[in-house]
Amino acid sequence: MPKIKKNKKLTSVKQNRIDLIKSVKGMPDILPKDESWWKWIIQTGQLVSELHDFHFIETPILEPAALFESAVGTSTDIIEKEMYAFKTKGGDRVALRPEGTAPVVRSYIEHHLGYFASPLKVFYYGPMFRYDRPQAGRERQFHQFGFEILSDNDPIYDGETILVVLDFLKSLKFKNLSIKINTIGCKVCRSNYKEKIKSYYQSVKAKLCRDCERRLEKNPLRILDCKNENCISLRSNAPIFLDYLCQNCNNHFKTVLELIEDNNVPYEPDPYLVRGLDYYNRTVFEIFSSDFKWALAGGGRYDYLSEMLGGRSIPGVGVALGIERLIEALKLQQITPHLKSKPSLFFAAVGDQAKKSSLRLINELRLNGIVVVEALGKKSLRAQMKIADRFKMPLALIFGQKEVFEKTVIMRDMGTGAQENIVLSKLVEEVKKRIK
Ligand code: AMP
Repeated sequence: MPKIKKNKKLTSVKQNRIDLIKSVKGMPDILPKDESWWKWIIQTGQLVSELHDFHFIETPILEPAALFESAVGTSTDIIEKEMYAFKTKGGDRVALRPEGTAPVVRSYIEHHLGYFASPLKVFYYGPMFRYDRPQAGRERQFHQFGFEILSDNDPIYDGETILVVLDFLKSLKFKNLSIKINTIGCKVCRSNYKEKIKSYYQSVKAKLCRDCERRLEKNPLRILDCKNENCISLRSNAPIFLDYLCQNCNNHFKTVLELIEDNNVPYEPDPYLVRGLDYYNRTVFEIFSSDFKWALAGGGRYDYLSEMLGGRSIPGVGVALGIERLIEALKLQQITPHLKSKPSLFFAAVGDQAKKSSLRLINELRLNGIVVVEALGKKSLRAQMKIADRFKMPLALIFGQKEVFEKTVIMRDMGTGAQENIVLSKLVEEVKKRIK
């Protein structure tokens, strides 16, 4: 049998082929096909923020790792298992932010934001990072829209926080909104309750899951919201915080519930809701819609957070919504984005001279608030008009050699096919008459 010679050229091409670089697991791209969802949600959030007098704040994506360790707590899942923390070349330990509240409080202390307003009401949106197991509804990079009210511990602000997020969700047309709400007390009553919880779970320690066995020493309250079936069944006999609240916390919770009732918001007290971050105290809540299984938003009060970061006492309350979850839930409820679209037209140019002059004309239209779509890279009119059809453009302007000399442009109604000539000096005026 003749020996088959290896094709040297082919092998080396194969070896040198670069593996296709793909996005990092759990960090999906946001693509133009979803543009209307993102725009709608962010625009709605901005509008609701303005109506409720919340001001924009943006903090960096990278923060000192110690910020989250001190605020969220080293024994929480977010810090223990999920934080992207690393050392920079200069030796600083930094972390990709897993949440937005601690950075806002850091910024408040650093820039003395109390001088700006008291209470300070701010909103933010942007990416958050948690190294969780990627699954539907849980990404490693996801986006939150958040609201925070700082420097006042009045329960009226717990109510305002709940109302701003509900307004946001109602503006997005979410159906059947409901709140799960609980109180996790203050420094005074929490230590007493923690002891009760600890001693109860000590008595059933053998039946707890591995994670909860660990939590028993470090963070016994978290056992209450463990998703393990055994742990869930054990909690029905566990002591309830409401029975151990101090008078002040009791009054605070009562007022918050009254405020919610006054505003006709359906709520369900959930004695097992504790939330996964150490900085919370008193009110904690989550918001759900219809039978979508994940919480759309979660929040609560954090009166000790500033002190946990080394600052003076600055009480606060806030809430964050997951934008990806909002989109998933809206799609499931068959709600589509309600975006106000601007008037738009298609601009086609044929021939070098027309093409050259077209940018100036297009820009003039755009400066007058008209969206202009074009495909000037394509030479033939046919190819350009195909794009106009694909994007269902209602109106097209056609600019050719003849029109350049005559200082006119052809205006074509894409529905009827009717065409007319417009003088360039009246272009904007004529276009505005025809499109809304
Ligand atoms: P949290 O910061 O954990 O209180 O979460 C607030 C909201 O952010 C949740 O109600 C979700 O809507 C969203 N969220 C939290 N974690 C994730 C995640 N891993 N992937 C997508 N959305 C998330």
